[in-house]
Amino acid sequence: MLIDLRELLSGTKDSISVDVMLDMTAVDTGASVYDVVEKNPFELKVNKLGKNKLQVKADGEIVLDIPCDRCLNSVLTKLEFNIDQDMDFDDKSTEDEEQEEKDYIDGYNLDVDRLVFGEIMLSMPGKTLCKDDCKGLCLVCGADLNVAECGCDREVLDPRMSVFKDILKNFKEV
Ligand SMILES: [Zn+2]
Ligand SMILES: [Zn+2]
Repeated sequence: MLIDLRELLSGTKDSISVDVMLDMTAVDTGASVYDVVEKNPFELKVNKLGKNKLQVKADGEIVLDIPCDRCLNSVLTKLEFNIDQDMDFDDKSTEDEEQEEKDYIDGYNLDVDRLVFGEIMLSMPGKTLCKDDCKGLCLVCGADLNVAECGCDREVLDPRMSVFKDILKNFKEV
């Protein structure tokens, strides 16, 4: 959702308050794509701090469907975001890094989804488990060991299992 900031920048208003609803239906972290299973409207406030300086504030939460690291069952994960961001429209910085940070400013519009996306990425859990003692999947037959013990002999696969674990670990760390 885009918020028009021109009324604030031109000086006719000192602050605006908008009920916003995110457009996003999924969060793409670059490594994985997680579906948004719940999102609610939230209030976004923009205050004028100076001639071309604005401050945006918003608190909200979304629920993502993230697979368990061990058994891949979906774990509904609530992520809260607390946005308190200053925007300086005088800053003509062209550094790549700076540009990337401000990708939520689109001309004189604030792209709320991009702003929230940045916050969500910061609060993304490093590890997701359906329960602390999740037994995971059998590496021989793929059965969910939380549901039933499949009876496979997994001991003989120990060396390969550790390789598999390393791969998973590396994957998560990227
Ligand atoms: Zn699990
Ligand atoms: Zn098995």
